[in-house]
Amino acid sequence: MVDVPEEVPELAAHAHATHVVVVGGGIAGLVAARECAKVGLRVTVLEAQDRLGGNVESAEIGGVRVDLGATCWSGRTGAVDALVDELGLADDVVATVDDGEWIAGLPGGAAAPMPADSIAGIPSNPWAEDVRRIIGTSGAWRAYVDRLRPPLTIGQERSLGRLVTHRMGQRVHDLLVAPPSVAGFGIDPDDVDVEVVAPGLSTTFTRGGTLSGAVAQLAAHERPGLRSLRGGVAQIVERLTAHLAELGAELRTGAAVSSLTATGDGLWRVAVDAGHDAADDSAPLDDAHAVIVATDEATARMLLTPLTGISTESASLRRDTVTLVLSPTALDAVARGPVVHVVPGGRAASGLVHESARWGREDAQIVHVWFDRADDAGADRDDADVIAEALAEASALLDAPLDEGDLVAAERRVLPLSRPGSALDQPGIRAEARATPSGVAVVGGWVSGSGLARVVADALAEAERVRRGALWGGGAAATGRSR
Ligand SMILES: Cc1cc2nc3c(=O)[nH]c(=O)nc-3n(C[C@H](O)[C@H](O)[C@H](O)COP(=O)(O)OP(=O)(O)OC[C@H]3O[C@@H](n4cnc5c(N)ncnc54)[C@H](O)[C@@H]3O)c2cc1C
Repeated sequence: MVDVPEEVPELAAHAHATHVVVVGGGIAGLVAARECAKVGLRVTVLEAQDRLGGNVESAEIGGVRVDLGATCWSGRTGAVDALVDELGLADDVVATVDDGEWIAGLPGGAAAPMPADSIAGIPSNPWAEDVRRIIGTSGAWRAYVDRLRPPLTIGQERSLGRLVTHRMGQRVHDLLVAPPSVAGFGIDPDDVDVEVVAPGLSTTFTRGGTLSGAVAQLAAHERPGLRSLRGGVAQIVERLTAHLAELGAELRTGAAVSSLTATGDGLWRVAVDAGHDAADDSAPLDDAHAVIVATDEATARMLLTPLTGISTESASLRRDTVTLVLSPTALDAVARGPVVHVVPGGRAASGLVHESARWGREDAQIVHVWFDRADDAGADRDDADVIAEALAEASALLDAPLDEGDLVAAERRVLPLSRPGSALDQPGIRAEARATPSGVAVVGGWVSGSGLARVVADALAEAERVRRGALWGGGAAATGRSR
């Protein structure tokens, strides 16, 4: 017989009586909610939209199921792989069949493959043919100065863009490093922490003294690849949702949270937008012992500003994304891609992924094209106009003659795009939230850095902190403050 420690029944009852409210049902919120529900905490997820998943969404368009937001994950943290395994989806994991990357919008409208030996666009050999084709001979000479300059010591420059410009010059910055940075995060490489996009690069660089040498060393090691799911990444959301329901969590959609108020006795009052329809006939929401804010950046700041000193100014962009399903033969002759980055300002679109070519999908030709916009600029444009623009951009970026006759179906989404996340971005946000009475936990791409691998790993860690605090007393451990 297994010995049950005396305090276990008491602990289980305490867990059940402890109410955790998760604001936002994107992947971060669902993962955090599930971690709390797993140990028996009473969990309520409040989601503003009428569906869960946030940026992870799939739909059937043109007779095929396609992901409209996130389509894959990086194996970098291992967190998504472990989650997928736990959710019983491991057999459906697929790897890329073609991971080629191109850069378009080069001077004169040219396009070229991303240099083979490069990391985040930084070349290991400025004189390589595939590098010179993009930056020219004068650019290669300037990049070569990296080999002649005195070494920079660790910690002196964390900005990817400034480091590259200093060591290798403006052409490497503009034509090689900016395109993947803008495609991935919608921002200039000057605002990207080198450690976030190229883990280990600064240490290797400091040790060896040259940036190109550090890239050569790191590129020699195998890096974690990208993975996706046969049937779509959105299955992760479906499984998480089902598991949360099994664990007894309450999932409310159409419930937009408008404010959080500390009641003064260690609880939180969570106000749900009264004007919102689906929440109207729901039971009143009990006050919460712990709150996890898992929304996009602008909403999180709106909720946290009255409680903390953080500003309401959001650094996130809107990514206007169009998914095109094209006739099966429309892209037969395409030689570019499947990923095409764009030199900033070189074209209207910021980037493209030829999804079906990337994963070897044979049931349809699927292309995602995206446009980055500050705040909501352009969000009110007509879907038909943006879809027509996306088709024209796909044609130009893939160098394939596409017209309306090739279009089977299309779907547009305007989604919040978080920055890559680093010490350059969000100093102290979490500390401020935790310092509120009872402490608020914050998860999501805008604090962890964009990308499912980071978002999931971070939400797991933060949820562990919350549930420890909820189980072992007050909000103190949940808030990360020492008791
Ligand atoms: C077009 C696009 C493509 C991407 N592709 C990839 C990819 O292929 N691979 C990858 O790893 N990453 C990708 N990303 C990034 C990745 O999708 C995100 O980092 C991740 O999904 C963010 O999850 P989240 O839970 O933090 O935020 P979100 O998904 O934004 O979820 C936040 C949730 O909060 C809800 N909410 C907002 N306000 C309220 C409120 N007041 N009350 C209640 N709920 C509220 C929202 O409706 C939403 O459901 C992509 C991002 C975009 C925009």
